Amino acid sequence: MSVLIYTETENGKFKKSAFELASYGRAIADQMGVELIAVSFNQQESSPLGSYGVDRVIQINDPSLENFTAHQYAINLIEIAQTRGAKLVILSSSANAKYLAPLLAVSLSAGYASNVVGLPESIAPLMVKRSCFTNKAFNTCTLDNEINIIGLSNNSYGVSENPKEIVVEEKPASLSETSFKVENIEKASGEVSIADADVVVSGGRGLKGPENWHLIEELASTLGAATACSKPVSDMGWRPHSEHVGQTGKPVASNLYIAIGVSGAIQHLAGINSSKVKVVINNDPEAPFFKAADYGVVGDAFEVVPELIEKLKAFKNS
Ligand SMILES: Cc1cc2nc3c(=O)[nH]c(=O)nc-3n(C[C@H](O)[C@H](O)[C@H](O)COP(=O)(O)OP(=O)(O)OC[C@H]3O[C@@H](n4cnc5c(N)ncnc54)[C@H](O)[C@@H]3O)c2cc1C
Repeated sequence: MSVLIYTETENGKFKKSAFELASYGRAIADQMGVELIAVSFNQQESSPLGSYGVDRVIQINDPSLENFTAHQYAINLIEIAQTRGAKLVILSSSANAKYLAPLLAVSLSAGYASNVVGLPESIAPLMVKRSCFTNKAFNTCTLDNEINIIGLSNNSYGVSENPKEIVVEEKPASLSETSFKVENIEKASGEVSIADADVVVSGGRGLKGPENWHLIEELASTLGAATACSKPVSDMGWRPHSEHVGQTGKPVASNLYIAIGVSGAIQHLAGINSSKVKVVINNDPEAPFFKAADYGVVGDAFEVVPELIEKLKAFKNS
């Protein structure tokens, strides 16, 4: 028996969510008294997972799986889940993981709970707390299938070190001939992706135009943050759609979300509810975002942001 996690990578490195799944999976595997197995695709160096409690890594290295293809990845995960007696499969809440989960659930006759926010309240039957209604509410759901799948909300559990002697295995890829192959993916331009970022700096229409985005970019680069924006900003072509955050855009679950010149419309807030600390800079004290903010600065972005950058740089250099 085992607990299986799918560990995602980007540019040859494990995403932060991989270590979070390992930490979370370790805690559950200990409760169940079973092995924690991680599956990685095209990742030669899997040993870092051992620091977070993984017992065994199954590496699948195949050039045709270089880019994520839900069908092909699912075939391999299903095979491993079946041969290793997985009782629980844990995925992240990334878009790719959300493609995979239903494919796995159907093939494994498994129950699936998405957006899970903590350790199970009970293991058999599996009872988990999940967020719903764009993180405005929680529900507890019970899954009593033989095998179950958890989609863990990013940043909801955190990472905890738990060093293990890790066993690394290579598995030849199982490939379906009928499935298409993703040849190329055009990546968003930002250095840090929004979904994985610890810190996100976001700009709204209050920035007045794309020519002022150097303020957002400079603040983001000072903080090692990803850049994001409101919907109108991407609709007007000031920023790429990949940066659009909210109900109709990307969800953000960062530790720090800094919103500059964003009014805080309900559709924008829907995408950032699971971010931990929200800082708002807006010149209108009545802007709705202040009601959702942990810290707020009422002021002109064109004065406040340069000063903030200067102070942060001075602090970093001190
Ligand atoms: C079905 C539907 C789905 C939607 N989905 C999304 C979504 O996913 N994401 C999203 O973001 N929106 C979404 N919207 C749009 C949303 O309702 C708002 O219109 C939008 O979020 C407003 O964007 P904004 O805050 O950048 O602009 P505005 O509402 O124009 O706000 C600009 C803010 O900047 C402030 N400001 C102006 N000048 C300055 C200055 N110099 N310094 C500091 N602050 C300044 C203003 O006080 C104001 O609060 C959706 C709408 C609908 C109907």
